[in-house]
Amino acid sequence: MTTSVMSRNASFAARSYRTHGIVLRTYKLGEADRIIVMLSPEYGQIRAVAKGVRRTSSKLGATLEPFMLVDAQIVHGRTLDIITQAQLQRPYGQLIAADYTLFTTANVMAETAERLTQTDDESSAVQYRLFHGALAALSRNQHNPSRVLDSYLLRALAAEGWAPNFSECVKCGRPGPHASVNIVLGGSVCVDCKPSGSLSPGPSAVMLLAALLAGDWDLIDAADMADQRAASGIVTGYVQWHLERALTSMRHIERTT
Ligand SMILES: [Zn+2]
Repeated sequence: MTTSVMSRNASFAARSYRTHGIVLRTYKLGEADRIIVMLSPEYGQIRAVAKGVRRTSSKLGATLEPFMLVDAQIVHGRTLDIITQAQLQRPYGQLIAADYTLFTTANVMAETAERLTQTDDESSAVQYRLFHGALAALSRNQHNPSRVLDSYLLRALAAEGWAPNFSECVKCGRPGPHASVNIVLGGSVCVDCKPSGSLSPGPSAVMLLAALLAGDWDLIDAADMADQRAASGIVTGYVQWHLERALTSMRHIERTT
């Protein structure tokens, strides 16, 4: 191989890469293009342009819809990377977009995943795995979508180092389940330590929170409806506390279940 061929190959390899990814969201760019925000296990959050995808003749357009798992070929561009090819691996987007509740739930998950992966860090692979697992569960529609969301949110925050503790008192360590939770302190609190401003959903709701964090679906699916609502409220409060502001799409979810 001559030197010139070698350097040409090396520069091509540096300019393009191939990865699996799940589309988190898309937005319009110019007349016919879209910016695709993707989560990849290897590269974390990717923002890349898909050219011409808003034309009806574009095959790439249907593939690069929210919640689709794709195998993409991407070229480094001057300002933004460009997706040159994408093959559909799993059509989660199709299944999820057909159901309003699943769609709004998946949007909250995607918004959370996008915020948690804004900066390059070592948790990308874990965040990808958690998001993928939750999307797959939603598309199978095996569990209550609100519980899939709650479990995903707790686990995604835990992966960033914000794991709550619902098994013991976070102040004195006394084993639970306790009846109260303090969001700011990060978990359950016993009756002696309980600061004012703590919530008291009861021990069975606190056990449900521990199950959501652990992904213990036998316990989650069997939970009492009042406990499910109480646990959801605490998960929402916990996410809001850590993400500093309410997730905008949280408002669109009808948390009736
Ligand atoms: Zn205590």
